[in-house]
Amino acid sequence: MKNEGAYAVLARAAALEARGARVVRLEIGQPGFETPEHVSRAGVEAIESGKTKYAAPNGDARLRDAVAAYLSRTRGVGYDAEEIVVGPGAKPGLFLPALAVIDAGRGDEVVYPDPGFPTYAAMAEASGGVGRPVPLRRDGASFDMKALEETVNEKTKMIVINSPGNPTGGVMPREDVERVAALAKKFNCWVLSDEIYSRLIYDTEDENDIFSIASLDGMKERTILVDGFSKTYCMTGWRLGWVACPTSLAERLKLLTVHSVGCVASFTQEAGIVALTGPQDSVREMRDEYRARRDYLVDALNATPGFRCPEPAGAFYVFPEFTFPCTAQELADYLLDDAHVALLPGTDFGANGERHLRLSYVGPMEDLREAVARIRRSLARKFPDM
Ligand code: PLP
Repeated sequence: MKNEGAYAVLARAAALEARGARVVRLEIGQPGFETPEHVSRAGVEAIESGKTKYAAPNGDARLRDAVAAYLSRTRGVGYDAEEIVVGPGAKPGLFLPALAVIDAGRGDEVVYPDPGFPTYAAMAEASGGVGRPVPLRRDGASFDMKALEETVNEKTKMIVINSPGNPTGGVMPREDVERVAALAKKFNCWVLSDEIYSRLIYDTEDENDIFSIASLDGMKERTILVDGFSKTYCMTGWRLGWVACPTSLAERLKLLTVHSVGCVASFTQEAGIVALTGPQDSVREMRDEYRARRDYLVDALNATPGFRCPEPAGAFYVFPEFTFPCTAQELADYLLDDAHVALLPGTDFGANGERHLRLSYVGPMEDLREAVARIRRSLARKFPDM
């Protein structure tokens, strides 16, 4: 298994900072905003009132009810509390379903996007399955659908989709999601839909109106819908997320939770209930601010020789392609060492990420302007002919 690249760069950037450098941090995928105040307060009050004991392994029933209501409000898909399993972040919602459904002895295959979130390859590996990475189309919005259709076969046990996606910020067009659903039905496999960035789509009027593959005919029973609080409510360190899936699978995820993490901290779950049921203004405000940052960064990169940057429709990443005569790893290393700008090579997200960088725009606009100025200066020095 490989590390998540962001952690390695984080450590190198921190080492430079310890030596006095001012590093502009565009490598992290964690919101630059604080957890909404009313949510933090709910967590503190829960600790103060003694909610510090073990909780139910699949999550507090009130939180599971709140998640079910949230899913029907945002996706228009009805779920019961028994179909929800709460975990410490969305990550266990990726890992545990893979452990539950992949049969290593049968050669089960897991199909996932490349470039894609590194945990997809890791969970395929850890569950003993065969990872089948599928390239994306050039703008990063979706799979190369022809490649996907050539990859999915009788051995496919799970197709992973991630829209809006990390690292490209791409949002899959509805017709592609429908084609994924058709493949899943044809080959009788699961779809794991990682919807962690679902509230960060820029071209919708209403950020609460989310299209999920689970809403398509005959898909709820084969969809493992994963979402959480990290990105939407700026709660990365609280560790809270969930899986929505058929009850029979939820029962197996509950067992895996019992024997792995046990349960999620009780006070964290109280904060989660308030996040889902309380005011949502902070989500819209954050989305509007991210949109302005995306617009700046896409234009600035496209105006920088050597880069071509598609405009992503969601999440908080851009994934420009470059033409400099070096690898993505070399370029990312150079920019960290010379410009003190931390970002990630596209290859941290799979082999097809070569010739790309991932920049996260969670930080303030001043940081983005400073990063672009430094990147331009350093590249002009190293590649004066570009
Ligand atoms: N899925 C994707 C696509 C992500 O980018 C991340 C975090 O960066 C996660 C899942 C994990 O989120 P959590 O903090 O809820 O475990």
